[in-house]
Amino acid sequence: MKMDDCIFCKIANGEIPSKTLYEDQDFRVILDLGPAARGHALILPKEHAANLYELPEETVGAAFILAKRMAARMSEKLGCDGFNLMQNNGETAGQTVFHFHIHLIPRYLGDGQRIGWIPGKPSGEELEEVRRQIVG
Ligand code: AMP
Ligand code: ZN
Repeated sequence: MKMDDCIFCKIANGEIPSKTLYEDQDFRVILDLGPAARGHALILPKEHAANLYELPEETVGAAFILAKRMAARMSEKLGCDGFNLMQNNGETAGQTVFHFHIHLIPRYLGDGQRIGWIPGKPSGEELEEVRRQIVG
């Protein structure tokens, strides 16, 4: 299903033009308009789902297989030195467009880009507490 007010629904389904790298029945891959690096692209399912939890499992699987193929092709064509995949869910996690997407971010030696986090230093007890919380 398509959502009327969703910009990525419109882009994925071709109602709004985009710099398309790949398209099939279920997905469109486009260049990001605010790239973290040269070639930064987004995998958009044509079906609307706000985030990972809403996306059907078979589409999640297909999206990650496509991510692998795109990353391989883009690495070869762009000659990048590394690759980040990113996928944000929820405003707190940095999601700004609420239609599931996977970021494909080519990385270049010395590109000065920062994609990461400040590592914490949990004690063994704290790790055990969170482990129990998740598996319990
Ligand atoms: P996120 O913060 O994970 O929701 O990522 C949204 C991404 O969509 C950002 O990297 C934006 O630069 C990108 N973006 C927003 N609008 C457009 C658009 N119309 N075409 C291409 N990329 C877009
Ligand atoms: Zn949508």
